[in-house]
Amino acid sequence: MHRCPTCGAVADQKAHPFCSSRCADVDLGRWFRGNYAIPAFDSSEETIVETLVASSNLGRQDVDE
Ligand SMILES: [Zn+2]
Repeated sequence: MHRCPTCGAVADQKAHPFCSSRCADVDLGRWFRGNYAIPAFDSSEETIVETLVASSNLGRQDVDE
């Protein structure tokens, strides 16, 4: 039995792998927020700043995707 990743209920075939389209939306929204928000890295603000500085190309031209 597959379980809904959002709420843990048994998944519905129509909304697989979720139990409902609502849970699918919730999960998708979570995903987007996770991607577009500043990642929490190690929840260390210094690490975040260093990462932002490093990615704002101070002399660095290499693109790592
Ligand atoms: Zn659900």
